[in-house]
Amino acid sequence: MKEAYENFTYEIGGNLYINLTSRCTNACTFCVRNEKADYFGHKLWLAREPAAEEVTARLPEDISRYNEYVFCGFGEPTLRLGTLLEVAAFIKRRGGVTRLNTNGQANMIAGRDVTGELFGKVDKINVSLNEATAEDYVRLCRPAYGAAAFDGLQDFAQKCARRGIDTWFSVVDVIGAQKVELCREIAARCGVALKVRPYIG
Ligand code: SF4
Repeated sequence: MKEAYENFTYEIGGNLYINLTSRCTNACTFCVRNEKADYFGHKLWLAREPAAEEVTARLPEDISRYNEYVFCGFGEPTLRLGTLLEVAAFIKRRGGVTRLNTNGQANMIAGRDVTGELFGKVDKINVSLNEATAEDYVRLCRPAYGAAAFDGLQDFAQKCARRGIDTWFSVVDVIGAQKVELCREIAARCGVALKVRPYIG
């Protein structure tokens, strides 16, 4: 049994991270959720999911104190879309910068296109592409939606970019140069950037 906490926000490198859920539609083989209730020393496994007011109550009076407010955490933030939008709108009204780190399955989760709702509230969206083909994605991320998740996340990223949200795919360099090249082609087709992160063991 994992220990559970109420750390709805945590700070890393000048950004404030917002942790809305421990649930996810993926079950990635590499996910830190499999291992421990700890990430960069923060206890992130949530005992319960916060309401928007509980998160906004933890934001600083001076919103410029953090460079970015990042919806991230142990789970998939868009599973809490309503709360995410409420908190993001609150931050935007105060002049803060918002970012969403996501598996890109928001439209599949909601059963509709939610990118119009994100526009204006979320400034930046980092979609984890992780792999170069649907087959490899399924093997690595074990999505509840199966192979359709890989197309779904590309469609989501493309729609976000078309709305004018600063959107990019991320992959880890450990997949190798050949796959990175394929990911670059996918990103180009979707009209988004590709960020290649170094592997941190
Ligand atoms: S998408 Fe993220 S939170 Fe979800 S299982 Fe994968 S690594 Fe974990």
